[in-house]
Amino acid sequence: MVAIDERGYYGEFGGAYIPEMLYANIEELRQNYLEIMREPAFEREFRALLKDYVGRPTPLYLAKRLSEHYGARIYLKREDLNHTGAHKINNTVGQILLANRLGKKRIIAETGAGQHGVATATVCALAGLQCIVYMGAVDIRRQAPNVARMRMLGAEVRPAISGSQTLKDATNEAIRDWINNPEDTHYIIGSVVGPHPYPDMVARFQSVISEEIRWQLSGQAGRENPDIIVACVGGGSNAAGAFYHFLDEESVRLVAVEAAGLGIHSGESAATSVLGTKGIIHGSRTLLMQTPDGQIVEPYSISAGLDYPGIGPLHAHLIATGRAEAASITDDEALAAGYFLSRKEGIIPALETAHAFAALDKISYRPDDIIIVNLSGRGDKDLDTYINHYERFQKAGL
Ligand SMILES: *Cc1c(COP(=O)(O)O)cnc(C)c1O
Repeated sequence: MVAIDERGYYGEFGGAYIPEMLYANIEELRQNYLEIMREPAFEREFRALLKDYVGRPTPLYLAKRLSEHYGARIYLKREDLNHTGAHKINNTVGQILLANRLGKKRIIAETGAGQHGVATATVCALAGLQCIVYMGAVDIRRQAPNVARMRMLGAEVRPAISGSQTLKDATNEAIRDWINNPEDTHYIIGSVVGPHPYPDMVARFQSVISEEIRWQLSGQAGRENPDIIVACVGGGSNAAGAFYHFLDEESVRLVAVEAAGLGIHSGESAATSVLGTKGIIHGSRTLLMQTPDGQIVEPYSISAGLDYPGIGPLHAHLIATGRAEAASITDDEALAAGYFLSRKEGIIPALETAHAFAALDKISYRPDDIIIVNLSGRGDKDLDTYINHYERFQKAGL
């Protein structure tokens, strides 16, 4: 059984390694999250918003031309069609309802690509709560459209100017803010990372993805279980959501796809499951990229949502126990997969998601296997990057 224990561990990964000053916040959340999530009124409100505000259920789409190309039955779970363009909104809708019930008035968040920041700013507008989003200064530059969206939605975007000025640093700033504002503030973490109960709470909010896959696949293909599920992993929330209801279905292969940047051993990578060792990051014991004396190695990926030096403890556990397979995809492989999907199916994927599609060239499968790719987000935010590299790929015979 793949299950979290009472102290928040998946096997040897997880837990809550937090400074004394965060203890009260985390404890309040830990003692209340399951009870609140199980309240019928909460469940009703969450489901209603997912349906009428987010636009769920998202389609499960049989990609015919892609299937023909690979000689397998490939279905796309269309999280890109959610309001705000990615899976992130499933979690922020859940957490804003939770924050409301805990009586919080002020919301903070961290963001990398800006998708989680937009999803958080969105639900704060919806709930009428103050919103402060921490974002690495480098990410602010490379994700300008999402910064504009957050501001338009009424959020304050605060730059993180330490370290690599990306997601890890934004997370540090958000944690610092929470320590300084323990009473009235809820911290909406955007992935299955952080101290317990965040990884479990976020996985549960995202599990609507695999819940829908089961009945949709049953209706379309006559069985609930696919042969393989493929999802990209930054912290791992879209993957956790897509895997959730299949974790104990041993016949379903789970493939977690990481960013190899310029190459796994190039020194410019975010392939945590290959390069990572056990350690503690942002309150959780997991696999992370670090030097032998415990300094975090700056991650790199062309996609701002994947360049995180750690990985959620659930995924560390799944990979360490062999339940999930890990694949690593370089920047160029992801770009090529993004151009390919655009031409084959008329869908421009987020660069993060393009990594999942590139993994179709790396994994083994049998003819006619049912493969589900979790299409975590749409590529609008990445158009500049796609366009900047387009000519190079065209010359190489795209
Ligand atoms: C944020 C993001 C990711 C990575 O985050 P996970 O928590 O690993 O899912 C992947 N795809 C898209 C489209 C994103 O916005």
